[in-house]
Amino acid sequence: MTTETTTQDTRAEVTRQAGSHVRSPEFLALLAARVARRTESQAPGNGAEARAYLDEEIVPELAALGFTSTVHPNPESSEHPLLIASRIEDESLPTVLLYGHGDVQFAHDAQWDAGLDPWVLSEDGDRLYGRGSADNKGQHTVNSLALGTVLRTLAADPARAELGYNVTILIETAEEAGSLGLGAFAAAHREELNADLFLASDGPRIAAEEPTLFLGSRGALNFRLVCHERNGDHHSGNWGGKLRNPATVIAAAVNALVDAHGVIRIPDLRPSDPPASVLAAVAELPDIVEDGAPAVDPDWGEPGLTPAERVFAFNVLEVLALDAGNPSQVNNAIPGRAAAHMQLRFVVGTDLSDFETRVRTYLESQGITGVEVVAEHCVPATRLDPEASVVAAAAQSIVDTTGLKPAIEPNLGGTIPNDVFAEVLGLPTVWVPHSYPGCNQHAPNEHALRSILEQGAEIMAGMFWDMKQNPDAWFTSKTVDTAEGIGA
Ligand SMILES: [Zn+2]
Repeated sequence: MTTETTTQDTRAEVTRQAGSHVRSPEFLALLAARVARRTESQAPGNGAEARAYLDEEIVPELAALGFTSTVHPNPESSEHPLLIASRIEDESLPTVLLYGHGDVQFAHDAQWDAGLDPWVLSEDGDRLYGRGSADNKGQHTVNSLALGTVLRTLAADPARAELGYNVTILIETAEEAGSLGLGAFAAAHREELNADLFLASDGPRIAAEEPTLFLGSRGALNFRLVCHERNGDHHSGNWGGKLRNPATVIAAAVNALVDAHGVIRIPDLRPSDPPASVLAAVAELPDIVEDGAPAVDPDWGEPGLTPAERVFAFNVLEVLALDAGNPSQVNNAIPGRAAAHMQLRFVVGTDLSDFETRVRTYLESQGITGVEVVAEHCVPATRLDPEASVVAAAAQSIVDTTGLKPAIEPNLGGTIPNDVFAEVLGLPTVWVPHSYPGCNQHAPNEHALRSILEQGAEIMAGMFWDMKQNPDAWFTSKTVDTAEGIGA
């Protein structure tokens, strides 16, 4: 047997073992213990539970693999602690930073189906029900299990195994509370979090059977258009024609920004042309039609783009809510005030500096005056170039493990705080989700699919193995492109 065959055989054995661990009673017990921790981060008073999750669930598991852990307070909250675990073989070696979150969304216990308890992991066919089973406890548990499998293959004592690279793990407990304090924490701990690659698992695959990579996320900017003419409403018969109607003005302002087909009219809120590598990646995405999903409207959105390009490679401007008068008890009156609650989802290549002034100036150039533009929440956009060498390495690794070519999303259509890793830490970011669109994350009846967790463990073990074999392909990618948003 040649050395090459031996190495390949070992790789296949490592990935197989990682997958079969997910089938073991030990894995179920481990995940059940984690799901049982009520780490709802939006509710006040769960700081001790979050701390216990890190101290009792994560620290011992990682200690056995040779990690040194420190649990830190959150710089912006008295709850929501963060953990940094380091496994440094040599300072001169490259480092991969892994990430996960131990907190969960409100469980809304009463809304789960009969027989299901969000805090008790329960098995039904391929489904593992429980709050956090998919988002994110199941996913980061799979990743440390896969790393442990690789380390145990390399040495009898996994703590002493030599990977040929360093591993740092960051676990936060405020992700569902908007990753409160994560940016400030990362900035304050840049040295300890310094790495050459960011690799994490969260969110859904594009479809259950499609291994998926995503490389960043669209940004999101929420803002209000407000027209406040006067306090109180005025009789529409006596005053109509004499008074400006704020609702009419706001309707015109909305239409000046986005037309009746959903096309963005204001040039400043449109992105520059997407790079060829982004369009090429989007063109390869499988066209998934999910059961129960609404039909795509063919005449909606930017003309000349496919629906997938509109979601992954372009901006969209949505009206989230309109506010004027009293729709449940309509008066014959001119409202004194009206507002539109808007949201721009944007890709890299959108310049939002001086956003409020530029939108107001544009509206004035269209003859629409008296509209205040108020920026609210903004998360920047990030996107690693799909042609980065690490993306090719990760995609090939998935092919080698599963025989399947992964779907590569240049960025999510949605928004995650990937800017903390891409911008604050300056890392190339690769996400390998182990859930699927029907997992009910953030809703009652959240579940993971054991088949995906199993395949996810195989994929991650393959990746940790391949990083050892070919570090140059994994650790030399340039950093991520970003669109800062409004700098708020
Ligand atoms: Zn979530």
